[in-house]
Amino acid sequence: MIKLTTESNGKIKVGLPSALMGYRLNPLLDHFFTNLGAEVVYSEQTNSQILEEGAALVNENICTPFKIYFGHVARLLKSCDYIPALRFVSEEDRTYTCPKFMGLRSLLMNISFREQRDKFLPLEINMRKFTPHVKKGEQEKILKAELAQIGEVFGKTEKQTHDYYHDALLVKEKFEQDMANGMILPYDMKQPENPDLSIGVIGHPYNIYDSYLSMNILSKLYRMNVKVITIEMVGKEISEKAADTHMSKKLFWNYEREIVGSVAYLLENNLVDGILFLDSFPCGPDSLMSVFLNQISNNLDGKLMAIVLAELDSDTGLKTRVEAFVNSIRGVKAGVI
Ligand code: SF4
Repeated sequence: MIKLTTESNGKIKVGLPSALMGYRLNPLLDHFFTNLGAEVVYSEQTNSQILEEGAALVNENICTPFKIYFGHVARLLKSCDYIPALRFVSEEDRTYTCPKFMGLRSLLMNISFREQRDKFLPLEINMRKFTPHVKKGEQEKILKAELAQIGEVFGKTEKQTHDYYHDALLVKEKFEQDMANGMILPYDMKQPENPDLSIGVIGHPYNIYDSYLSMNILSKLYRMNVKVITIEMVGKEISEKAADTHMSKKLFWNYEREIVGSVAYLLENNLVDGILFLDSFPCGPDSLMSVFLNQISNNLDGKLMAIVLAELDSDTGLKTRVEAFVNSIRGVKAGVI
């Protein structure tokens, strides 16, 4: 049984890692835990110590965003009462997230932070209507039991907890719609006032908006007077429709479907002058997708450059490549190349 602990201000502190699926789920989790009465605490921005700390907690061959996530969790455990331990299966029907998201909870609670497992609040997020090998109704039962257990920590009834969770799902949806409708810019992004180029910066949000991992690529492009469009600004509905049109088979990886669809939609509708695809190292789904992205870009006469985000100490290589890409597009537009 999870025990209730409180900090000096009387509120239970729940830590939300500013990493990995936090970029998709933190609006939901923030709303849910705040309504339950928690004080929500976010981890600081990624830095080299966080990456080092996380890398020491997981297998060395795992992808960099995962190592970063574990570093954020380690930091939060020092100051928070609880951290949600997500088993993130799916964000919508008939799709899955990356298999690593599904194994994340076991890794957190049974391996990396076994000694502190009581500080984790298990929560399965699975929006598939049907999951193979899971009996009908079983998913709802799992969610109900986990929500009840979380509600108990905060002294709330099952109904209250369930209602807060469903409200939180709507908050997440609205946040995504607002980004897609241009009502808000994703994650403190800044756009130049009079840009002369538009570039799609495509990839997982935890690669793009984590300024340490992406080596400040968004600020670099801002300083080059380039307007940036990301998959959050295209929106799920449009990107998924485009992906289904351009792929012979529906992609069952939710994020990769959005990535492929965003590239296709932006190029097909001439909404960008080029695409930068940010791929983290080593990422199976992304490496597979880069083959499709190249194909789509060639078919649509687009300019696409893939950048693999590795754990590097200096941003010189990335800066040179981005500058060369932007300058070549400017040259073509001006008719000098
Ligand atoms: S999609 Fe790639 S980068 Fe993201 S968690 Fe999976 S392996 Fe890591």
